Amino acid sequence: MTALWRRWFVQRDDALLADADICVKCGLCLPHCPTYKQTQDENESPRGRIALIQAWANGQLDASEKLLGHLDNCLLCRSCERVCPAVVPYSRLIDNFRSRRYLRGEASLALSLMKKVSHNKAVNRLAQKSLKFYQAGRLQKAARVLKLPELLHLDTIDRLLPEYHEPMPMQTYYAAQKHHKGDVGLFVGCMGQLLDHETVNAAVKLLTAIGFNVHVPEQQACCGALALHDGDRETAEQLAAINCRAFSGYSLEAIVTIASGCGSRLQEYQQTEFAGKVIDISRFLMQYAEKNLAERLLPLDATVCVHTPCSLKNVMRSEKEVAMLLRQIPGIAIKALPETIPCCGSAGSYMLDHAEMAQALLGDLLAVALEKQPGYLVSSNIGCALHIAAGLRERGIALEVLHPVALLARQLKA
Ligand code: SF4
Ligand code: SF4
Repeated sequence: MTALWRRWFVQRDDALLADADICVKCGLCLPHCPTYKQTQDENESPRGRIALIQAWANGQLDASEKLLGHLDNCLLCRSCERVCPAVVPYSRLIDNFRSRRYLRGEASLALSLMKKVSHNKAVNRLAQKSLKFYQAGRLQKAARVLKLPELLHLDTIDRLLPEYHEPMPMQTYYAAQKHHKGDVGLFVGCMGQLLDHETVNAAVKLLTAIGFNVHVPEQQACCGALALHDGDRETAEQLAAINCRAFSGYSLEAIVTIASGCGSRLQEYQQTEFAGKVIDISRFLMQYAEKNLAERLLPLDATVCVHTPCSLKNVMRSEKEVAMLLRQIPGIAIKALPETIPCCGSAGSYMLDHAEMAQALLGDLLAVALEKQPGYLVSSNIGCALHIAAGLRERGIALEVLHPVALLARQLKA
C-alpha cells in the first residue's frame, strides 16, 4: 500500500495520535536514550520513534520493515520518559503501537521459548527438570563444544544460564521469626523460581527476620511484562488478572518484589488496589527493618558495585534504597555506577533478539563497573544480573553478580 493511498483512505489511529501528539519535539530526551547514543540516528531516538508512530498513525508511512525495525529496537528502558518535560507516556505509546502490530509471527525461537517458560507453569516445571539434566551433567559443556546452541539459534539463551543449583522446595507460607509486624505477599516471578533460588530464599529469610509473615501464593503467574512489550496485550491482561486473584484473600501490608522488571509491570496494573501495594524489596526492608539492623549483620570487607536497573530507576523510582540498605553491612564499601550509565541491554527479552545492541551496551557498562575493582556486583533485576554475569563469563572475569538482598542475607547473623 503506498503512503499516499494510506494517507487518503486509511483511518487515522486517534488513540495513538493522542499520546504521540503530546511530544513537542524539544529533543531533551535524546542524550538519555541508549540506542541514540550508540547510533546517533534520529530514527533510533525517542523523538524519532514518536515521529514514526505519528506518520504511521496518520497514514503517511507504511509499516515497512525499516519502520518496524526502529520501533522494535527500543529497549523500553524509559529513560526518555523520566526526563520528558511534556510527560509523553512513551511506554504506553510503544506498547500500544506494538499491540497494533502483534501477530506478525516473527518471534525468534529463543523468544518463543522464553515466553512459553514464563507463561505456562507446566512448561516452567519441565524447564526446571530439563535444566538439571542439561547443566548438572556434562551435556551443556558438550553442546557448547559442538556449537549446538548456535546451530539451534538458542545461544542467546544458553549464555545466560547460571551454574546449576538444586532448587529449594518453596512453601506457600513462612511465619515471622519474632515480634510480628504484619503480613506480606512475595512475588517470585517466573524466572526467579527457575534461575535465582538464592534471592527467593534470601527474601524469605530477611522478611521473616524483621517480623513479617510471608505468603507466596502458588497460583501467582508471570507479571506479563514480556507479553505486553511484545504487543500481546490480551495475554498481559490475563496474567494480571491471575496475579490479582492469587494475592487476594490475604490482609497484606505489601506485595514485595525481588525483580524490578516484574515490579515495574505489577505497579502499573490497572487493578489499583493490587498495584498500590507493590514495592521493591530493598525499599521495603529500608522502611521496616529495625534501626539497629547493622548490629544483626556480620561485617564484610569488600567493595560492592551497585547496578541500578532501568525499571528500578525509571519506573519504580527506588534507586537510592539499595545502597542505603547495603551500607548497613559493617565494613562494606559501596560504589554505585554513575547515573549517566545507560541500560545494560538486557531489557526483558531484548537481549535475545537484539544481541548486537545488547552486547554494545553491556560492554560500555562493564568498562565502567570494572574500573571500580569490585568484589561483588549487585543488581535488583534478574534479567540484568543474568546478562551482566554472562558478559563477565564471556570475558573470563571472575566477579560474582547477585541480588542485593542475597548479599544482605549472607551477612545476617544466625
Ligand atoms: S519525548 Fe519529551 S523530551 Fe523527547 S522530544 Fe518529545 S517532548 Fe521532548
Ligand atoms: S525507552 Fe529507552 S531506548 Fe526506547 S526511546 Fe526511550 S530512552 Fe530510547
